[in-house]
Amino acid sequence: MERIIGDLGNKKGQKLLLSIGGVHGNETSGVIALERVFDFIEKEKIDLNGRFVGLRGNIAALKSGRRFIDKDMNRVWDDETIKKAIKNAEQVSEYAELKEIFEVFQKLQFNQYPDRVFLDLHTTSAENGIFIMVEELETTGYIVEKIHAPMVLGLHKGLLNTSIPYMHMHGFTSLAFEAGKIGSFQSVHNHEMIIWQVLCFAGFIDWKDVPLQIQNYNYLSEKTAHLPKKMILEYCHHIHPKDEFQMKPGYKNFDKIEKGEVVARDSKGEIKAPVDGFMLMPLYQPEGSDGFFIVKEMEG
Ligand SMILES: [Zn+2]
Repeated sequence: MERIIGDLGNKKGQKLLLSIGGVHGNETSGVIALERVFDFIEKEKIDLNGRFVGLRGNIAALKSGRRFIDKDMNRVWDDETIKKAIKNAEQVSEYAELKEIFEVFQKLQFNQYPDRVFLDLHTTSAENGIFIMVEELETTGYIVEKIHAPMVLGLHKGLLNTSIPYMHMHGFTSLAFEAGKIGSFQSVHNHEMIIWQVLCFAGFIDWKDVPLQIQNYNYLSEKTAHLPKKMILEYCHHIHPKDEFQMKPGYKNFDKIEKGEVVARDSKGEIKAPVDGFMLMPLYQPEGSDGFFIVKEMEG
C-alpha cells in the first residue's frame, strides 16, 4: 500500500485538487473510489485543467481494518500536534502516518497553486449518512452548492482538529464528504460521484468527461431530496471510554429528534436529547470520541 494513489494532470498550472481517503482505516470506500477515478482518467486520457493528487490516509489502520491504531487521525490536525508528530513519529502509529503525509505536502509545494481544493472522504457507522461537511460557504459555495447532498456547517466546533479547518487555514477550499455506511457498496459509488463532481465544479474537467454510469447516477439526489439543503451543528455529545456510552439502537443519520427524547445511555443513566433537530453520526462502533450530534436547518 503506497501513500500516493495517483498524481495526474498539469503540474505547472494554477489548480490543485488534493483528495485523501482512509484517514479512518475501517473506511475504505474513499480509497477504492480514488483508485477507480484515477484509473479512468488515465485509461481515457482525460485532460485535466490542473493537478489532481490522491492519497491514502492511515495506511497501518487500513491494513488492519481498524478506525485507528493509537490515535484518531482526524483529531490531530493542528500546528502544534503536527509539529509534535513529525518529531516523535516512532511513538504513535498515526504520528508516523502524518509525518509521511506532510513529507508529500512538502514535495507538492502546494503554495505554488493559487487555486487549491482539499477533499477528505469518509463514511459513518450508522445508515443514511450522506452529507458534505464545510466550515463556511464563502470559499466552498461555488462547489458545494451544486452537489446533490445536504451540507452540514459548524461541525468543526464539535469535532476538534479535523483536517478541514486545518487545510482551510492553509489556503485550501476545504470540504469533507460522508458517503454513507461503512463498508457499503453504495458508499464507494457515492465517493466516486463526489470526486467527479468536485473535479467538474472546480473546473478540472467538463461534465462530458465523466463516465456515463456516473452521469446517470441519481442515488445521491434521490436519497437526500427530503432533507434541508443546509444544516448547522446544535449539539455534540463527547464521550470517554469510562462513560460506557451506548447509543440506543436503530437511529439513522438525519432521523428527527425531539428535545427530551432518550437517545442513549451511559454509566450515569439515560441520555436525553437537549434540543430538537436531526440526529447525526450516532456512534455504532466501539471506537470513537463522539456519541452523537444534533443538527438543525440553517436559515437563509
Ligand atoms: Zn471517518
